Amino acid sequence: MFVNVDTLLRVAYRAFEEGVQIIGPTYLSLHLGIPKSSAQNQLIRLAETGLGVYVPKKGFLFNEKGLHEAKKAVKKHRLLECLMEELGMERGDACREAARIEAVVGEGLIRLLEDRYRPRRVCPCGKEIPEVEG
Ligand SMILES: [Zn+2]
Repeated sequence: MFVNVDTLLRVAYRAFEEGVQIIGPTYLSLHLGIPKSSAQNQLIRLAETGLGVYVPKKGFLFNEKGLHEAKKAVKKHRLLECLMEELGMERGDACREAARIEAVVGEGLIRLLEDRYRPRRVCPCGKEIPEVEG
């Protein structure tokens, strides 16, 4: 099962925001609706891309680069949610729709969305839109 990196980073960052430092396969499995074994593979793969470390029997821990990339992924998702909201989409649908396209959206569009929705600080669900370059 393939889960794109932006989605993995976003879910892991959400755990981090909630105070969970090490994200385990169970957390990821619950939030993505994928089997635990598959979730573990995804977390190991994420560590292999240099965005953190995989602590055996525990889970994934962000490094600085990983956190930076995760903030970018989260910013992208939440700006897309703002767009969906403006288009009249209901909140839950906005999140699902943003998740569908977040992997393919380019930086040019993100910049335009940021110009349009800043200085807004939160997405339609009230979560913080990270302040991060890129
Ligand atoms: Zn949101």
